[in-house]
Amino acid sequence: MTAGRSGDRVTNSALVARRSTFTSGLALAVVASVATALGVAACGAPLRPPMHLQVPAGEFNDDPDAITVSWIGHATLLVGIRGHWFLTDPMFSDRIAGVLKRKVAPPIAPSELPPLDAILVSHAHFDHLDMPSLRRLSDVPLVVPPGIPTFLPRDLPQHQVVALDTWQSWTRGDVRITAVPAAHGDGRYLLDRWHKHSHTGWVIEIGDRTVYFAGDTGYVAEQARELRRRFRIDVGLIPVGPAGRAGWVERWRADVHTSPDTALDLFSDTGAQWMVPIHFGTFFQPAGFERPIVEAAVARHHLEHAVRVLAIGETTTFRY
Ligand SMILES: [Zn+2]
Ligand SMILES: [Zn+2]
Repeated sequence: MTAGRSGDRVTNSALVARRSTFTSGLALAVVASVATALGVAACGAPLRPPMHLQVPAGEFNDDPDAITVSWIGHATLLVGIRGHWFLTDPMFSDRIAGVLKRKVAPPIAPSELPPLDAILVSHAHFDHLDMPSLRRLSDVPLVVPPGIPTFLPRDLPQHQVVALDTWQSWTRGDVRITAVPAAHGDGRYLLDRWHKHSHTGWVIEIGDRTVYFAGDTGYVAEQARELRRRFRIDVGLIPVGPAGRAGWVERWRADVHTSPDTALDLFSDTGAQWMVPIHFGTFFQPAGFERPIVEAAVARHHLEHAVRVLAIGETTTFRY
């Protein structure tokens, strides 16, 4: 197996906190206006309760090579590999940026999670980097792209911030985490694109087990093929939503967001064995609206054998 060049950079979150009230207020205004434009304004409907997430500890006893993926909602996943636990883009809050209300409650509380090896954050947008959620998690390494630390407040419990640029890796014991390309927007507030290198995908490797977390990304065939050249990916965690939007919105957003169809193209191009669709069914569309759209795309691509469309709170196990 090949991998990206190694080059660690560790920063201390206490050194890099900068956040202005002005930009926070601007962010809320921008998020609210964009949400309104896209027809996804907040509503007062009660949260739909999910199935309670059962942490899959028993899977490791049966088969140490199994990979478990538990969907907490949106881009938040608990990934278990060989007794190690990783949490992606933790989002446990009821609203994105205090504006967009979630449609399905989180299926597990942060305090119920197993001891984490690391928290991986893909980028700074409010639905992926949520400070109240980070404050509810323990002091474990926070792995981020280099443009993120500037957004982190001083009072986070995570004292070790590992900032990795594309193809840089961080290794601890038998765990290696590598930043991989994503096609998405820099910055946190939609207008602050000057915060370069603030979005990424991640590859987690433990021995010959490999999981790709795409974060938010558009479909770029060459990026997917480069992943295939460098890694032998077992499981791809790839965004498919918001699904079911008007065609002009899909085309307008194609550079930065996969649709269900282009997400499946991305999955196929990476050569991954299995895929779990993410980034749908939680915030942007009514509960239950997107799943049939995602399943129809999977059927159109004849990928039912490889793609597992989870319910929020569901765990699936991948083994050869
Ligand atoms: Zn985003
Ligand atoms: Zn997102």
